[in-house]
Amino acid sequence: MKLIMFGPPGAGKGTQAARLEERYGLKQLSTGDMLRAAVASGSDLGKEVKAVIDSGDLVSDDIMVRMIEARIAEADCAKGFILDGFPRTEAQAEALDQMLAKTGEQIDAVVVMEVDEDELFKRIENRAKEAGDSARADDNAETLRKRLGVYKNETAPVLPFYEARAPAER
Ligand code: AMP
Repeated sequence: MKLIMFGPPGAGKGTQAARLEERYGLKQLSTGDMLRAAVASGSDLGKEVKAVIDSGDLVSDDIMVRMIEARIAEADCAKGFILDGFPRTEAQAEALDQMLAKTGEQIDAVVVMEVDEDELFKRIENRAKEAGDSARADDNAETLRKRLGVYKNETAPVLPFYEARAPAER
């Protein structure tokens, strides 16, 4: 089973993906976590992407597609996976399709999470408060506004790509 968790920042994609991982043994793949790990490790990739992440912009499709392609080929993804934070652009969605098609696979379902904007601001504020000193640099109202703009302009248009394929039950 291959799932995509889809929704704006703060919608709860990571929380729900973690529950699905525990219950069904599907591997949660959070591209945000992978990028933050790269930043924390001080790798060349981490140095390259830190400023982009902190500003609320998107890391390049090229980097993200290579990262996911390598990750889903690992043994712990054999039973399936839940993508949390990928794809975020139409180019990423197309690249994902192509990489899965190489082995005759495809995405089984897209879980869409919808949350009011006011609530997103509250959640991000709470998340930053709870994390204290280790709060994410992009978890603040100003950067959230930017991230929501990026979501609307670049990520939300990915949804029709999947809807066109299989009309989902709502
Ligand atoms: P997240 O933890 O999913 O909110 O991601 C945090 C940040 O990592 C995003 O605001 C982007 O800067 C970057 N990022 C994560 N996933 C992607 C992706 N699929 N494409 C581009 N940038 C990403």
